[in-house]
This record gives sequence, structure tokens and C-alpha cells, in this order.
Amino acid sequence: MAQVDLTAVSDVDTEPGTLPKTMAAWVIRQEREGEPRDAFQVEEIEVPEPGAFEVVVRVMAAGVNYNNVWAALGQPVSVFRYHPEDDHHIGGSDASGIVWKCGPGVTRWKPGDEVVIHCNQASYEDVEVHGLDPLAAPSQRIWGYETSWGSFAQFTKVQAQQLIPKPANLTWEEAASYGLVYFTAYRMLIDQCNLQAGDRVLIWGAAGGLGVFATQLCKITGAQSVGVVSSPEKGELVERLGATGWIDRREYTGMMRKGGESPDEEKARFKESRRFSKAVGEILGAPPDIVFEHVGQATFPTSVFTVKTFGKVVICAATTGYNLDFDVRYLWMRQKQIIGSHFANAYESTKANELIEQGLIRPVLWRTMPFDGVAEAHQLMRENKHLGKIAILVGAPEEGLGKTAEGPGAIHAEVGA
Ligand code: NAP
Repeated sequence: MAQVDLTAVSDVDTEPGTLPKTMAAWVIRQEREGEPRDAFQVEEIEVPEPGAFEVVVRVMAAGVNYNNVWAALGQPVSVFRYHPEDDHHIGGSDASGIVWKCGPGVTRWKPGDEVVIHCNQASYEDVEVHGLDPLAAPSQRIWGYETSWGSFAQFTKVQAQQLIPKPANLTWEEAASYGLVYFTAYRMLIDQCNLQAGDRVLIWGAAGGLGVFATQLCKITGAQSVGVVSSPEKGELVERLGATGWIDRREYTGMMRKGGESPDEEKARFKESRRFSKAVGEILGAPPDIVFEHVGQATFPTSVFTVKTFGKVVICAATTGYNLDFDVRYLWMRQKQIIGSHFANAYESTKANELIEQGLIRPVLWRTMPFDGVAEAHQLMRENKHLGKIAILVGAPEEGLGKTAEGPGAIHAEVGA
């Protein structure tokens, strides 16, 4: 395979309106699924043409998400199952960029417009899109995970409805960093749980991608939150973001459910869950109204136990395992609810983005890496070495560009362990 010149990634030799023939892209192929450092490789690949109601965007910066750790690993399923029509997978479900070419039917956008991209796709022809929710459509896909033209490339192909104006107060890398996790957290808390001033919220992984936004949403709503973290550095970050307090989960390793515990082991595990629950109540002043879940198997029994009577456990992922078991008596006797949630629709994404434009919610950037850092960034995420978000420069030749209005910009997380 020909070497791709990565020093020229920020150069494009066509004007908006015209696409070059090929581009540099980080590509996963089925035969090399495995650790991110091996699965991702740079290839030169054809630039796709936009179809009806589609837009090709020149990517200025891209955001790193856990979904392409899963894509690299080929777990729990290979992404090639989702897009059998293409034998390449260009991952990347967050981007900031410039509209480069619009397909037939697109009227709201034109070449040259500066945008960020939300990652939900659905067919215009599905009836669910017109009255229920695009997330309910049979055609619903996450762009850059379940589709093959994501943002780790010089150009990406999206549906026009995915475009949102880029907040002028952010640099390219800041604008690329937050969409997927922030819009997911917004739907989970604001729409699914009707978060209110005075609510109390327990947030797992509060210094991670989802967690930094869940914490900020609680703060601006007037809700209290306690964040679970695994180091004091992460604890300091969530406090800076407005959490009432934090708990280091390393002090409660015994509460984590592994599966297959004997009755005695489960009794000991439950005792630790109870101890954790008490600590949560002490920080918040009462048990949480809402538990923000994405860890899954290890923490779910503790979440169901800890949430207040009549409270809600809202869950969008299961990083430690998706076969969840828990003592259901705590659910029915105390009339608790479990709510599944997945990403967000275009309206929610746009509303959430307005809070970024207003500087009320801020991106939390840990590192910005050059284009050649895509595989390494996913490896860091897989090894849980990051805080907040990682951005990748693609068309932007250096950090700090693209900001055209005053504003607070991103919070820069400490470069921690
Ligand atoms: P992330 O940036 O890696 O943050 C996750 C946090 O979870 C980590 O910071 C870590 O915090 C904590 N964690 C990791 N392993 C843990 C364990 N064994 N026990 C307790 N806490 C643990 O990832 P993210 O972007 O927030 O995403 C988290 C998950 O949600 C991923 O599986 C992702 O694919 C999924 N997700 C789903 C959707 C959706 O729409 N369905 C959207 C976004 C993300 P500490 O080590 O500090 O505790």
C-alpha cells in the first residue's frame, strides 16, 4: 500500500463545491480488528460523492469516542455487520468542519458553511422520523460507527439534517470534541429524566466523556451531583465542573459485580454496595433521584439499590458487560424505573448546542492530537488513561484556529495519570 503523506493532511487542493478524487483516512478493516493501535491504519481512499439530502464536509477536527474502541476491537459485534456494502470502516462520530459539497435537495446549507455534526442518521422515508423520533426508525444508525464514512478522514459524508452551526466561540478542536457524549447526556437527563432544580444525581465515570457533561448539566439546572471517579485528579476535575462531591471507586472495589458470585460472595458484595450507597447519601443529603449509568454489569446492582424510592436509573451503555443482574425486589417494592437511552435526535442536539454557544456548558478537552494520533488516542481511551475528551486535528494545521467570536472556550482538563 502506498505511503500516505500525513504532513499534507491540512492541505486540500480544491475549492468548496468541488471534491478531490482521494483523501487520507484512518481505516479499520475486518481482518485487522483487535487492539486500536493495530486495527486503525492510514489509507488513501476515494472521496465519496453526496447523494440526495447528503453533504460532504471537509473535516477540520474530529472527536474521539469509545464507540470506535469497540469498532477497532470488533466487539461486541463487528461494525462490518452494520455496513456490509463497504469493506472499509472510517470511524469518527464527532467533527467540526466546512461544508464542501451538497447533494441534490439540500437547501439549508451551502459550500463554505462552518458546522459541527451530530451523529444520528435515519432514512427520511421512515414514518417514525415524522412524528415519533428518528431514534425509533428502523433505519437509525450512528454515523462513524454503524456507517462507513466517519470523521477520521479529510472528508466525511453525512445527512444534511446532521449539521448544526459551529459555535463561533470555539476553536476547531474544541467544537469537534463534545457532540456525541454531550448530546447523549442531554437526552438522558433533560428529556428522559426531566432533570429539575433540587434533584440529586449519582454520575458514574463523572470525569469521562459522558460524565463531564452530565455533571455540568446538573450544575446549570440547579441539581446536585456526586461523581464517581478513580483518582483524586479526576475528583478535582468533577468538582471544578460543579459536582457537589466525588467518590473514589477504588475504595469500593468489593461492590463491583463480576457475575457468577456464590451466595456468600454476593452477600459480601452487597454489603459493599450498601456502604457505597450510604456515602452517596451523605454527600447529597439524601439518596439520588437519578443514577446516570453506562458502566453496566459491574455497577448496575448498586445503581438500582442506591437510587431513591420512585427514582430513575437511566442507562446508555454497558462498558463492563451487558448481561445485567440485580435484586429486582429493590426495583418493584420501591417503585423505581430503569430507562434505556441512546444518543439524541437533531432537535435535542441543536438545543444542547445552544447551551455551548451561550458558554453555559463548555467542552472539556484533555488532549488535542495531530492526525497521526488517531490509533494512539483510542488506545489511551481503551486503557482509561484520559479525562474528558480527546480531539484530533485534521484540516486545522494547528491548535487554536477557527474561533471567530469571544467566549469562554473549552475547560482544559489537567494532563493527569
Ligand atoms: P470514557 O470517556 O471512557 O468514560 C467512561 C468512564 O467510566 C471512565 O472515565 C471511567 O471513570 C469509568 N469506568 C470505566 N470502567 C469502569 C468500571 N469498571 N467501573 C466503574 N467505572 C468505570 O467513555 P464515555 O465516552 O463516557 O462512554 C462510556 C460508555 O458509554 C462507552 O461504552 C460508550 O461506548 C458508551 N456511550 C454510549 C452512548 C449511546 O448513545 N448509547 C453515547 C456515548 C457513550 P473512572 O475510572 O474515573 O471511574
